[in-house]
Parts: sequence; C-alpha cells; structure tokens
Amino acid sequence: MDTSEILTRYAEEDSPYNAVAFPIFETSIFYFKNFDDFSKALSSEEEHFLYSRGNNPTVRVVERKIAALEKTEDAHLCSSGMAAISSAILAFLKSGDHVVCVQEAYSWTHRMFNEYLKRFGVDTTFVPCDADEIISNVRPNTKIIYLESPSTMLFSVIDLRKVADFAKKNGIITMIDNTWATPIFQNPIELGIDLSLHSASKYFSGHSDVVAGVVAGKKELISRIFSQEILNLGGVIAPFEAWLILRGLRTLEIRLKRHYESTLKVCDFLFDHPKIEVVNYPMHPKSPQYELAKSQMRGGSGLLSFRLKTSSVETVKKFVNSLKVFRMAVSWGGYESLVIPCAVTRNCSEENINLIRIHVGLESPELIIADLDNALKMV
Ligand SMILES: *Cc1c(COP(=O)(O)O)cnc(C)c1O
Repeated sequence: MDTSEILTRYAEEDSPYNAVAFPIFETSIFYFKNFDDFSKALSSEEEHFLYSRGNNPTVRVVERKIAALEKTEDAHLCSSGMAAISSAILAFLKSGDHVVCVQEAYSWTHRMFNEYLKRFGVDTTFVPCDADEIISNVRPNTKIIYLESPSTMLFSVIDLRKVADFAKKNGIITMIDNTWATPIFQNPIELGIDLSLHSASKYFSGHSDVVAGVVAGKKELISRIFSQEILNLGGVIAPFEAWLILRGLRTLEIRLKRHYESTLKVCDFLFDHPKIEVVNYPMHPKSPQYELAKSQMRGGSGLLSFRLKTSSVETVKKFVNSLKVFRMAVSWGGYESLVIPCAVTRNCSEENINLIRIHVGLESPELIIADLDNALKMV
C-alpha cells in the first residue's frame, strides 16, 4: 500500500456521515442491544468496543495505520512512550529472566531495566551497540534483546538482520525503539525484529503537544501485551490525544522528508567545521556508519549530536546561550529546532561535557545554519 494512502484513508472506512476528518469518540463505554452481544464483547474485549481502557474507535484507527506503516499486523497506543515500552517489556519477563539491552538506550528505558526490574528479580546486561557484542552476552535465560538503532545521544547503528537472525534461532524476543527513524525510514519488523516501539510524543504527533507511545508487531504478540499489560496496568491513551496523532500522521511523510533534507544540509556545515570534533548522524555519507545505516534505513530524521572541540563547561554554556533559533528543551520531533547540551544533565560524564544534541526543525535550513554559525563564532 502506498504510504500516503495509509496516512489518509486507510482504516477510516467507518467514519460516520462520510466525515473526512475522523471523529473523536469521546466516550468511555459502548452499549449492547442484547445479552448475547454483551456476553461476546465481555469475553473477547480485543475484538470489540466495550470500554475505552481497552479499545476505542478513534484510537483504533491510529493503531491500524501505524501497524500498516510498520508493515506488520497490529499495534496498540499507550499513554506515553514509556507506557508502551514498559508494557511490552513486562509482557515477556518473569523473575529469574535475563535481558540484553544496549548501553546507549533512552535514559528511562535504561532505568527501567537497571533499577525498576531488578526489584522483580530480572537481571540486565548492558552492551555496546554492536551485533556481535549483543550476541555474545546472551545467556540461556535471556528472554529479551532490547535495541535502539540509531541509539539515543550517539546515534549508533546496529546490524538488525544479524541480531534478529540469531534471536529467532534461539527463541529470544527482539524489541527496538524505532522512534528516531519512524516507519517512514525504517521497518525493523521486515528486517526480522519482533516488536517496534515508539514514543508517539515525537514525530507521530509531530507538534510538541502530545505525550503518547505505541507498540507494533505480530497479532499474537500484541494480543499478549494488550490482554495482560495494557488492560492490567491501564496505561491507555485518551481519544483526543489519539486524534491529535491522527492529525499529525497526515503530514508525517512530508515533515520527515523536510527534516531529512535540512539535516543533511546542517551536517554538510558541521562535518569538517574547525570548532567541531565529531558529528554523529548515520545517514550522512561522511558518517563511518553510513553503509550499514543505508542498508536498513531509507532516510534520517532531524536528531543528531556533535562534539565541540572543548572540555570546558563555560564554552558549552556560551555556545548554547548564543543560539537564538534553537530553543533549550527536552524531547524533539515537533516543528521547532531544539538543543540539549549533555553538560546540563546531572549525570553527564566528564567525556561527554562537549556533547551537544540538536533537533533540526522545520524552519528554513538557512536560518538554522546561520544560527549555528553565529553561535560557533562566539566560542
Ligand atoms: C522520548 C523518548 C522515549 C520516551 O517516550 P515518552 O513519550 O516521553 O514516554 C523513548 N525512546 C526515545 C528514543 C525517546 O526519544
């Protein structure tokens, strides 16, 4: 199916009154006309609209679209990226199990494994973003291999086919956080990964006004996550938030195309700049990971990092305080260009003092580059 068809018409067949903008079903419950229908819905909530902690028509439209974009069978939205990630993880673990997780995972995912799950007797080994390292750290009781590619902050790329092949042969569930690339640029499930996770707070909603998450994969796996973690833990999304994502999805492809084009221009400027030590963006031809990245992604998003040639926090401060277009804020994926200096975080290591993460927004690339140029001149 053509991507634009998924983003517009697909899954919206039941839109009442032929409404082109699918309605927000702001209802918590659905009624039944007879005993048998009610009984059927109660025994298979997954297939019916019964109560909005389970399914809701507006939410369902978005889930079906995201499943189609991910080229898989099903998906479920959650109240945040972390609700989707934690629900997916918990569905496949019990006390005594082991997880292999990439060291460079999103900070809260890292904490989930390192602190939270330890309380329940689950042990995690954190490994570098490399297929061989991941494989060699698997144990007989490993149940999940948790991946990010590209990874958070350093945007390292992992050979996904290699990890997926190994995991399949050994009966281990593989999960990837696909927030960075989105299904517009990367389809991990086609490469053999079992579950694709997203913070929908980023590009899916795309306007810095929603917190949400999604997990996508084969029906059997999603069904297990839905009937256990989603219904029990209840981290569900509200219909209005789902509708905002539906609206955001209309422009997902066109926004990402622009983010990618602008980011390549920004990288052209940053690579080889005399005040910059290294640029981390795998989808630029100058990246050492370009060949691998290109073999599993069709493009790149607007998030990258670089290192200033300095070890001084004062220089980093001066640089970010000189930026006018880039605003200092967490998160990313909306219209705006954003910046986070690693040094601002409490747990920033000495070696990462000079690390700066930026989100290249939808403003004109000339404006964005001029802003970076000006700030670099100040340091
Ligand atoms: C933001 C983010 C998350 C967490 O998502 P929330 O919606 O904030 O819960 C997870 N992974 C990545 C890569 C993220 O950027």
